[in-house]
Amino acid sequence: MSCFRLENVSFRYDKKPVLKGIDLRLESGEILGLFGHNGAGKTTSIKLILGLMQPTQGTVSVLDGHAGDPEVAQFIGYLPENVMFYPQLTGREILSHFARLKGASPGQVPELLSQVGLADAMDARTKTYSKGMRQRLGLAQALLGKPKLLMLDEPTVGLDPVATADLYRLLRKLRDEGTGIVLCSHVLPGVEPYIDRAAILTDGALQAVGDLSALRRQANMPVTLSLDP
Ligand code: ATP
Repeated sequence: MSCFRLENVSFRYDKKPVLKGIDLRLESGEILGLFGHNGAGKTTSIKLILGLMQPTQGTVSVLDGHAGDPEVAQFIGYLPENVMFYPQLTGREILSHFARLKGASPGQVPELLSQVGLADAMDARTKTYSKGMRQRLGLAQALLGKPKLLMLDEPTVGLDPVATADLYRLLRKLRDEGTGIVLCSHVLPGVEPYIDRAAILTDGALQAVGDLSALRRQANMPVTLSLDP
């Protein structure tokens, strides 16, 4: 199944072109790295896939349906870059709340919290959580309902190296089970070993798409590939 397909997609905020003729797809069981500097258009692409906005030109199809359709939305998990939760509620209470909203089984809640490494903290209020712990809770929220498409914006920011390795191990497992995953990042180093393909956005245009070894063979790529922090 195709997780999403952008065909000749352009988008403008007022008169400002932000995405310019993007062709990009993600298949099931694949991890795509979406790279670009600040303002390149990564979040805008995600908003179009989530159906929060309509493209100015072109088509966006998601899970073989239309972006934004409720029957499609329930199979999408999204982790935004800076995730915030009610500080007075515990991790378990927050995830149970989102499980109800998403129509996911409440039985999933403790299982997911354990999967993201919050087993011992699930009954603590989230005001006591570190940024990394909030990030993991956000990931658990994104995984509610067993999404077929998972989109993560800078998912390892705030995580220590062990937690980062755990996260990527989990993403690979999900990928091997058939989930399509998009990882958005400013930087390639560190993410490279975990992705199947990379898409590089520069000022709203897709500069390159493909597996990293093929991209490196392109003469103009080495500069872009070292998108250092
Ligand atoms: P970052 O890595 O900083 O999150 P990004 O690659 O996700 O950047 P976008 O957030 O998609 O980039 O922004 C693309 C362009 O659109 C930027 O020039 C940004 O200033 C502009 N933009 C984003 N949101 C709005 C908005 N609500 N109104 C007007 N312009 C916007």
